[in-house]
Amino acid sequence: LAGKTFRPEPSIVNVNGVKIGGKELAIMAGPCAVESYDQIMEAARAVKRSGAQFLRGGAFKPRTSPYAFQGLEEEGLKLLKAARDETGLQIITEVTSEKAVELSIPYVDMFQIGARNVQNFQLLREVGKSMKPVLLKRGSATTIDEWLNAAEYIMSEGNYDVVLCERGIRTFETATRNTLDLSAVPVVKNMSHLPVIVDPSHAAGKAKFVIPLSRAAIAAGADGLIVEVHPNPMMALSDAAQQLSPKDFDSLCSDISKLAPIL
Ligand code: PEP
Ligand code: MN
Repeated sequence: LAGKTFRPEPSIVNVNGVKIGGKELAIMAGPCAVESYDQIMEAARAVKRSGAQFLRGGAFKPRTSPYAFQGLEEEGLKLLKAARDETGLQIITEVTSEKAVELSIPYVDMFQIGARNVQNFQLLREVGKSMKPVLLKRGSATTIDEWLNAAEYIMSEGNYDVVLCERGIRTFETATRNTLDLSAVPVVKNMSHLPVIVDPSHAAGKAKFVIPLSRAAIAAGADGLIVEVHPNPMMALSDAAQQLSPKDFDSLCSDISKLAPIL
């Protein structure tokens, strides 16, 4: 279902009228984690002003250490909904379990499956059954074939609204958090009709590399970006080093709008 033999022309995923795929870029932005009302509102207003159509924010955070901040869970979902009610931004959030899917359904517009759950087949089936659009990140060690098979799990439940997201893979290089596999963009587009976006933030791991990687992603043919933006990156409870300030995100948007129109 994910392959070009099933559908030769590129798919457009429509999230309440906001289209991912097609000529214009879809921009998703917001903090790694929802931390407080003031934090998410400030982030939402800023990314909306700069041109984003989606607000991202994690309520369920899959952290490397069990002692690190794990997210506000349902409280975080309520804050995301409040941000949607004020700004009209579409809400995307990561779900890490079947319980998280159930809890999130009334609050969000699109689910994110994170790199760590790309082969959690039960969870993939669950978001497939939900019929909400799904952003499916590539795992840090999944091949393109495995990644497309993960999309197939979602689609086999009848949900064709899948957007793929390259977010960097693990290599021998340690200067960046992950190595952004930009070749995945044209390679996947050659194999699949699904839209492909890029997450430069988790690839770079450092804010100063996010803008050049974003430009490269758009030049390579990505249909959009998902970027971490925090009103005060230094104070972030997760992924502090890679989050952009609203001001830097604004320069990113004006930079990339020279390469392709933003929706
Ligand atoms: C995130 O989006 O905050 C995240 C945890 O990303 P990834 O699953 O790509 O590591
Ligand atoms: Mn993050």
